[in-house]
Amino acid sequence: MGRLFLISLEGNFYSCKHCQAHLAHCDDIISKSFHCRHGKAYLFEKVVNVTYGEKEERMMMTGVHVVSDMFCVGCGSMVGWKYESALEKSQKYKEGKFILERFKMLGADGSHYIITHDGQLVGSDAEE
Ligand SMILES: [Zn+2]
Repeated sequence: MGRLFLISLEGNFYSCKHCQAHLAHCDDIISKSFHCRHGKAYLFEKVVNVTYGEKEERMMMTGVHVVSDMFCVGCGSMVGWKYESALEKSQKYKEGKFILERFKMLGADGSHYIITHDGQLVGSDAEE
């Protein structure tokens, strides 16, 4: 396995709430209007310090997508998922983009996300 090298971001970024590994830069947010089982989720252009699970087809609110779950390399906890491909033409813009669950991250100011119970949508995510 060897040593774990974590990429460090500068400026305003989100980090893993468990191990503080940096995950994504605030400037790389594409959309904040996604949902997951734990409330809000953000779509990012790029993320760092994650590993990917198996690709699988998953039914989302906006149709079937091929996604891979993403895990923090620091502590192994699931932090979101990557859109590998979308079957619906209107959803193609998500391909190669990343979802991070707000609940799993610390904000730029170190803030925790409190679940407000407005995000209880079944099957996780999608944009509204
Ligand atoms: Zn972590």
